Amino acid sequence: MQIYDIAVIGAGPAGCMAAIRGAQIGKKVILLEKNNKIGRKLLITGNGRCNFTNTAPLNVFLEMFGKRGSFYRDVFNKFSNHDLINFFELNGLGHKVEEDGRVFPITEKSKSVVDVLEKVLEEENVKILYNFCLKMIDTHENFFELYSTKNQIIKAYKVIMATGGASYRSTGSSGDGFIFANLLGHKITELKPGGVPLIVSEEWIQQLKGVTLKNVGMEIEYDNKHLTLTTRGNLLLTHFGISGPVILDMSHHIAEILDKYGNLKLKIDFIPEIKDDDLGLMLQADFQKYSKKTLKNYLKFHLPLRIIEPILSSLNLDPHKKLNQITKKERFILQNTLKSLPLTITGHLPLNDAFVTCGGVSKKEINPKTMESKLINRLYFAGEILSGCGRRGGYNLQQAFSTGYVAGDSASKN
Ligand SMILES: Cc1cc2nc3c(=O)[nH]c(=O)nc-3n(C[C@H](O)[C@H](O)[C@H](O)COP(=O)(O)OP(=O)(O)OC[C@H]3O[C@@H](n4cnc5c(N)ncnc54)[C@H](O)[C@@H]3O)c2cc1C
Repeated sequence: MQIYDIAVIGAGPAGCMAAIRGAQIGKKVILLEKNNKIGRKLLITGNGRCNFTNTAPLNVFLEMFGKRGSFYRDVFNKFSNHDLINFFELNGLGHKVEEDGRVFPITEKSKSVVDVLEKVLEEENVKILYNFCLKMIDTHENFFELYSTKNQIIKAYKVIMATGGASYRSTGSSGDGFIFANLLGHKITELKPGGVPLIVSEEWIQQLKGVTLKNVGMEIEYDNKHLTLTTRGNLLLTHFGISGPVILDMSHHIAEILDKYGNLKLKIDFIPEIKDDDLGLMLQADFQKYSKKTLKNYLKFHLPLRIIEPILSSLNLDPHKKLNQITKKERFILQNTLKSLPLTITGHLPLNDAFVTCGGVSKKEINPKTMESKLINRLYFAGEILSGCGRRGGYNLQQAFSTGYVAGDSASKN
């Protein structure tokens, strides 16, 4: 039976790039994928637009991966955001840069990114075996045997595990790689959701599904502590609670607090650019100036229309009351609500609904220069299977492509 130089497991961005790099160096590479096509998750990234990297400099990239971000210094140096943009440009796919340096394909379609990967895999003669769902790895002295659930067997001198995380499992990323890595002796750090919507107990929120609160500020209150979140952004109300960029970015942090302290209060500041005292003076002046307006009509200046009545009803305030009928006490309540609307966060959606999986194969057991296991020679890891996760903004896909590139490169050279 033929023994391949390299077998790559999982045809997501990490696996595809690993296979491409190995084949470019002249190795016989086989890519094993349980689905009948490559890049199922890639297709849904960035709302179908694929935010594949970011223009941020290296130090920002490392920060975006938290405390252990410096693990990726070599990897991002060897295959940077510029290298990735060039890779797509050279293969006919231009790019566009949006707010906060987020980079998208010029077509604004994830499919274009998948198409490029498919084209290059073919050009480089990578053999792809679809519907191959790995169920077991046997290690021998100088090669591996890979068994599929249908008992197909593939032999390879080197193996790159790029099976992704454990969220959006229907795309194929069902966490299998963590089991194999663990059976091979690797430590798997706790799997937690990274970027996940939060559950809110206030029932009136449910009526407001689909409403976006633009550029709000936030503060968290837990265990008698107050934590003002520096990020401002858009918050989306859903049938179970809250989501949107500002929530997804902070959710892993909030999830940790929830695990430790139970429920917490999230306070929304609808007008973060105006200080509390200044807002008080402004409301006082406005209530005189627009004394004949109803409360509901006036609040349109500050709040999205759909949210006004549910908020006023939660405060027992009549939306049709004229401003000159509002008492001083009621005006203070309004001021407080505009600056600090409290929502009770009781939990978060499960890992399957997360943007990425935080946790995975411990990076302590991986050589950061090569992505090779420190425990098992000739075994490499790439992509989301590695512990930790990046913030939103194209950082996670760059991590997948860069670690894939380095794993493919070093597996071909050592
Ligand atoms: C809704 C959503 C939107 C996102 N948007 C963005 C974005 O815009 N920008 C960004 O940077 N990140 C985004 N991400 C995160 C990004 O998609 C992942 O970080 C990235 O796909 C990880 O790449 P990967 O190659 O490691 O794993 P995956 O893309 O998960 O690929 C793993 C592959 O391994 C295969 N596999 C698994 N187990 C087996 C097995 N036993 N045998 C054979 N094959 C197997 C799977 O079928 C899959 O094809 C998003 C994630 C989600 C869920």
